Amino acid sequence: MTESFKSTCCYCGVGCGIVVHKEKNGSLRVEGDPHHPVNKGMLCSKGMNLHYTVMDTSDRLLYPEIRYSRHQPRQRVSWDDALERTAAVFKTIIKKYGPDSVAFYASGQCLTEEYYVINKLIKGFIGSNNIDTNSRLCMSSAVVGYKMALGEDSVPISYDDIELADCILVAGANPAWCHPILWRRVEAARAANPHLKIIVSDPRKTQTCSLANVHLQLNPGTDVVLHHAIGRCLIEAGQVDHDFIQHHAEGFEKYQYTVFERSIAEAAVICGVEEADIRLAASYIGKAKGFITMWTMGLNQSVIGVNKNLSLINLNLITGHIGKPGSGPFSLTGQPNAMGGREVGGLSNLLPAHRDLLNPAHRAEVEAFWGGGKIAPAPGLTATEMFEALNDGRLKAIWILCTNPLVSLPDARLAEEGLKKAKFVVVQDISNRPETIPYADVVLPAAAWAEKEGTMTNSERRISYLQKVVDAPGEALPDAAIICRFAQKMGYAGFDYKNFGEIYQEHAALTAGTRIDISDLNYDILKEKRSVQWPYSKQINGHGTPRLFADKQFYTPSRKAIIHSFPDNNESEMPDDDFPLILTTGRIRDQWHTLSKTGKVNKLTQHIAEAFLEIHPDDAARRQIRDQEVVVINSRRGEVRVKARLTTDIKPGVVFLPMHWGKVLNSDLNRANNLTNNLVDPKSKEPDFKFSAVQVQRY
Ligand code: SF4
Repeated sequence: MTESFKSTCCYCGVGCGIVVHKEKNGSLRVEGDPHHPVNKGMLCSKGMNLHYTVMDTSDRLLYPEIRYSRHQPRQRVSWDDALERTAAVFKTIIKKYGPDSVAFYASGQCLTEEYYVINKLIKGFIGSNNIDTNSRLCMSSAVVGYKMALGEDSVPISYDDIELADCILVAGANPAWCHPILWRRVEAARAANPHLKIIVSDPRKTQTCSLANVHLQLNPGTDVVLHHAIGRCLIEAGQVDHDFIQHHAEGFEKYQYTVFERSIAEAAVICGVEEADIRLAASYIGKAKGFITMWTMGLNQSVIGVNKNLSLINLNLITGHIGKPGSGPFSLTGQPNAMGGREVGGLSNLLPAHRDLLNPAHRAEVEAFWGGGKIAPAPGLTATEMFEALNDGRLKAIWILCTNPLVSLPDARLAEEGLKKAKFVVVQDISNRPETIPYADVVLPAAAWAEKEGTMTNSERRISYLQKVVDAPGEALPDAAIICRFAQKMGYAGFDYKNFGEIYQEHAALTAGTRIDISDLNYDILKEKRSVQWPYSKQINGHGTPRLFADKQFYTPSRKAIIHSFPDNNESEMPDDDFPLILTTGRIRDQWHTLSKTGKVNKLTQHIAEAFLEIHPDDAARRQIRDQEVVVINSRRGEVRVKARLTTDIKPGVVFLPMHWGKVLNSDLNRANNLTNNLVDPKSKEPDFKFSAVQVQRY
């Protein structure tokens, strides 16, 4: 007999519903859930092949392992031995160096329950805020942008708004490859409404551009200049919403002054686009009845990521396109549960339910709820700061779970040096493939997708429940169970949950009275409804809240949205004679993050099997580089050697490397992050992955 289970795809932030069919012989197959409101039965190539990542256990970590000294190999131990030893080392380090000498580095792929217990453990009991996740590398600029403009980290709209829009500006994103099912919905909306205007701004001509009415192929780092220029066009054409600006927003006068400091012609030169195209894009926005701005890493992963976000959100605010059908700013979450992580406060500067770590009253509320110790008043180390602190000795121990920082962090060789210097490294993962494993003093095997139950929240605030389908191989355990067992070995009360539903209810209870209130929600309701959008109330809205700010009351002290003004300059590492090209990094269609899951699925490696450098033929000709020839790319940090792909789809002066590859055949020369720099946005602390100065030569 075939059993069927409901789940959610564990790759990108679109959050497609999946039905997993389990045959009598144990084999699995997946199909898109035809009743799920997100994908209505569709799946992209990654989702369609998800079951292979579970069925192929050849790379799985099966048992806990420890090495008792750096000169010995790790050996298999029991869970009790592994966690008792780890707790003993953590206690010793904390006693000697203080709670801030340890850290947890987690992932936007963790389930909400997992995030919740890690955050509770370190902030509420260990007494440090040193918990950060790879969401820092992904969405933190959007989080700060929303907070500054709207008063809280709150995505205002739903996917259903796509069908109601008549203009969509996609800024620094390639959803056709990176959020494919969402893009299918945009394609369907265009098919239903040929008047839907799509504007894409990107230094690369990607698959997304095939639907664009206008592609603004701007120079990297000039997004703020472009957004300001569009704002100026809208003001000049009288296409702003004066009623909204007067009654529901602050800061317009300063904004107007700022955007009028630069002419459209001047902006066009800086951006490297035609003035007429800026004006055309602005005219589409100005005439739209529903206008959505959509963005991801091209804006977020920048040393001016917050300003890029704010300058884009400003376009929604000056036109009043927020809180109404088919309108609003819409950050597309990179990872499946980055938003769930933000709900529980799973970053070094957050507290649960969007409470503010710097607010003493908020800290007191959470302290009282958890019943542990005092929550430290200062933010903890962010992702990149953790590895800097390992290098300079401030941080002694790090616990890395569900992420592969030696591929994904900027300046990866510096991160590698940090792990070498750490006194104690715990790696908790499903696979033996991550590059962190050789540095681990303790390896803890974790259960993978479909091997555990829990919840995730997608880009549109939609919480979905994931059913457990199969048992984990060997002795692997769900991440939340591992953390709770460890907390108990540390001697902390409050981690003896009977099941994951109890963890979820504790998290939900902490949201009571907040703007993300889901205190009515539990597993039974989620199983019945499949998914709901926060905030949720049993009495008021049976499936949650599809649209925020319909009443034009924002979450700022004045209840008005804030139109921010700032200079449009870019603070990135500028090209020079030695490193004259700008490197930007990103994803390819069929791979996910650092390949530890998608890299073992043959069907997915057939699309693009190896790393490559995209370079414009003019830049290649100057260096006598031919297509498919191996090239050496150098920056001030390191070197990469891959084959060149000559294409006019990339702007002259810019080169592109995919971010997925780490060590291949013991060589790290495929790793894009050998080259990237350590600059981060000063407010969001998100790295500048999209802009590093490099040189390219024939090998
Ligand atoms: Fe999974 Fe994203 Fe593809 Fe949907 S679009 S199937 S969530 S990877």
